[in-house]
Amino acid sequence: MDRIDTMTGKSILVVEDEEAIAEAVRARLASEGYRVNVVHDGPQALRAAAQERPDLVVLDLMLPGMDGLEVCREIQRTDWVPVLMLTARTEETDKVAGFAVGADDYLTKPFSLRELAARVKAILRRMERIRQTSPTEPMNRFDLMVDPARRRVVKGPDEVPLTPLEFEILLTLARSPGVVFSRDQLMDRVWGYRDYAGGRVVDSHVARIRRKLGDEAGEPRYIRTVHGVGYAFREDGL
Ligand code: CA
Repeated sequence: MDRIDTMTGKSILVVEDEEAIAEAVRARLASEGYRVNVVHDGPQALRAAAQERPDLVVLDLMLPGMDGLEVCREIQRTDWVPVLMLTARTEETDKVAGFAVGADDYLTKPFSLRELAARVKAILRRMERIRQTSPTEPMNRFDLMVDPARRRVVKGPDEVPLTPLEFEILLTLARSPGVVFSRDQLMDRVWGYRDYAGGRVVDSHVARIRRKLGDEAGEPRYIRTVHGVGYAFREDGL
């Protein structure tokens, strides 16, 4: 604690079974002023997440015993905590991104520690912004009810289980019906940064939101694609 002046007050749980990577990640994040705890498998991760309630979890996908997807799902079940997933290959990232487990972001190995630190910072900044946004009244859009304070979406009688990122995207669009958001704008607002794969990441998230809302590809009822530009929440009737 001799570096108390640089402490951010944020705690990060690192779940990684490869010792060398775990140590490199720990050292870098500690040097950025975070409190860092490292565990090496899924069951330890679940215990640590429940006990420490970290501000963010850096989670390796390939873990012994219990895979990262399962860990991510379990962690998100009880707590809304952002997860930065580490994957071994780009194809794996694509696959993982297709699962709605609530990971907030993905990094493909090998990654630079600088990139890792930048992602962590962006996610924590976004969480801060979300917390500071004053709660607003639930919005009714067609048969959807979007509740920013409770971070839930209800369609008719049913709650729609959205991940934190999916909720942010839907909220951003639904707050301003008819306003077209480019992929870059969504990246900025929701993720807090842009990267080369930005468009693709936004598209895959929107596709998942539509699927969960039962939005049909041909004539989406809620989120409209504006070709060559981005997305908008519909303002006209069904
Ligand atoms: Ca591993």
